[in-house]
Amino acid sequence: MTANATIWRAIVLTLFPEMFPGPLGVSLAGRALAFGLWALEARDIRASATDRHRSVDDTPAGGGPGMVLRADVLAAAIDAAEAAPGRPRLLMSPRGRPLTQSRVRELAAGPGPLIVCGRFEGVDQRVIEARQLEEVSIGDFVLSGGEIAAMALIDACVRLLPGVMGKAESGAEESFSDGLLEYPQYTRPQSFEGVPIPEILLSGDHAKIAAWRKAEAEALTRARRPDLWAISQKGSKNTTDG
Ligand code: SAH
Repeated sequence: MTANATIWRAIVLTLFPEMFPGPLGVSLAGRALAFGLWALEARDIRASATDRHRSVDDTPAGGGPGMVLRADVLAAAIDAAEAAPGRPRLLMSPRGRPLTQSRVRELAAGPGPLIVCGRFEGVDQRVIEARQLEEVSIGDFVLSGGEIAAMALIDACVRLLPGVMGKAESGAEESFSDGLLEYPQYTRPQSFEGVPIPEILLSGDHAKIAAWRKAEAEALTRARRPDLWAISQKGSKNTTDG
C-alpha cells in the first residue's frame, strides 16, 4: 500500500483551484492527505483557455441570463488532466443522479475520480456527451459552483479509504450502511439537564443493546425517511442503500 502509483487521487477541474484543499486539509481528511493516504490535484480550467483574454465562458446560445462554460476549453482541460483512462469522470450538477453512500463506496474503491466543477449557468451540453461525464448531484438545491459539492463527495470517499478512519467498524455501522439511518448516540455526562442516558446502554448486555439500536434505527428511518424505509423493506436481502 505504499506504491505512489496506486494511491487514491482526486483530480478536480475548477476555475478556483485556490479553494482546495480548504476543508479537506483539516481533521480526518487533512491528516490522511498529509500522511499520503490519498492525493488531491486541483487544476485551473482557465489554464486551458486559448484566446487572448483567457475566456472560459460565453453567453448561452438561444439567450437567457448568465454565462455557460465553453465545451472546447473544458474538453482541453479534461484531456490535459487525464493521465490514465479508466478514472471515473464526474460533473457536479444539480441535474445529476443524487449521490448515495453506495456510489461513494464504489468511488472510494476505485483509483479516484476526475471531477469537473461547474460555475455560472453550467457547462455546454456537448462536452458532457463528448467526454461522457457522469452528472452527480449532492441534493435538490442549487449551489453557486461545483467546488463545495466536489469537496463533499471527496470527503465522503476519503473517510472510507484504508487507514483513514481509526476503527474499521465506524464505517460499517453508520447511517445508510444497512439502508437505515443511524441509531442515537450518547456519551458522558450520565445525566444532562436532568435527562439520563438510556439505561439499556449502560447494562453491558451487548445483545440487548444491539436489538435496541436496531429498533431505534428502524423507527427513526420510518419516521424521517419513508423513502429509505420502503427500499429497505422491499429488498432486505440485497444491499439497500441506493
Ligand atoms: N443553471 C444550472 C445551475 C448552475 S449552478 C441548473 O439550473 O441546473 C453552477 C454550478 O454549481 C453547476 O454547474 C454545478 O457544478 C454546481 N452545483 C450547483 N448545485 C449543485 C448540486 N446540487 N449538486 C452538485 N453540484 C451543484
